[in-house]
Amino acid sequence: MSELTRVAFIESMIRNVPDFPKPGIQFKDITPMLADPKAFMTCLDLFAERWAGEGLDAVVGIESRGFIFGAALAARMSVSFVPARKPGKLPAATERVEYALEYGTDALEMHVDALRAGDRVVVIDDLIATGGTAAATVELCRRLGAEVIGAGFVIELAALGGRDAIADVPTLSLLTY
Ligand code: AMP
Repeated sequence: MSELTRVAFIESMIRNVPDFPKPGIQFKDITPMLADPKAFMTCLDLFAERWAGEGLDAVVGIESRGFIFGAALAARMSVSFVPARKPGKLPAATERVEYALEYGTDALEMHVDALRAGDRVVVIDDLIATGGTAAATVELCRRLGAEVIGAGFVIELAALGGRDAIADVPTLSLLTY
């Protein structure tokens, strides 16, 4: 399958749910894609091809749908998987980065020993919207001394400008709306 065909195949497996979780939001539901092993593997292949041969040490997945793609990609590429979690979930010593939401703030945490200085990592999530979540995760990786060589998303909502929030990180989005 050509890259264009593979991307079209993945796109056909994403369900758009209007007005979820609140009016005006077009929720991009990836569960139909996860239910299709060919589609899920195609997605992992496209990510893996991008970072093959780059000396990757770890994939950092963002809670919670980033865990699904990130963990599978890490196993596929034989590198470590590291979760970036919502506050209060990780049991050992953590680093924390807060970020702004539409109303209020949220935070993400990583274990301080999850990455070593100089580790080459990619950050993975299902979707990038404003980029606040991804930018916080990139910052967490850098605080641990890692080098963020890329960020990967199944879906990018381009109108929300998330790519600019992580402008210094090469970003791969499989589908752009
Ligand atoms: P942001 O920090 O604005 O880039 O938001 C990205 C995070 O919110 C990701 O973890 C997504 O899973 C989730 N998200 C934001 N908008 C949507 C959407 N329209 N459909 C599905 N997930 C979304």
